[in-house]
Amino acid sequence: MSTSSFKNKCVTQVYCIYCDSLLCTRGMKAVLLADTDIELFSTDIPPNRTVDFVASCYATESCQCKLRDIACLKCGNVVGYHVVAPCKPCLMSCNNGHFWMFNSDAVSTVNRLDPSGLNLLLWGDLPELDDQEDENLDSQSEEEFIR
Ligand SMILES: [Zn+2]
Ligand SMILES: [Zn+2]
Repeated sequence: MSTSSFKNKCVTQVYCIYCDSLLCTRGMKAVLLADTDIELFSTDIPPNRTVDFVASCYATESCQCKLRDIACLKCGNVVGYHVVAPCKPCLMSCNNGHFWMFNSDAVSTVNRLDPSGLNLLLWGDLPELDDQEDENLDSQSEEEFIR
């Protein structure tokens, strides 16, 4: 898959199916190369304020990637995994820069709309620093609060 084909994919918001908390606002529907029956949602930015690591690294039978499960911070249920160290074949074949995965049976997703609210937001339209901007807004309002 080329990078441009990812740009035509919808951006989804990913929610924990157990407690409904928002886990990630930059989700992308992905299909495991090893098992196309398994549906996943991936993201490029570590969702570090909504999920945490559980247990230790492990590898799957299908390849040499080192994985680590991630759980919802709010309710503690495992919702996906992080690819700690991708193996070479995976890096070569499916590298879209997304190393955070959510299991589709542990999350619910909503397609994001573009600013007009009429069209689906695609990855090609997504600002590079989407989450970064949110953080800037947060710190600005905090500063105003101090003043
Ligand atoms: Zn949860
Ligand atoms: Zn691999």
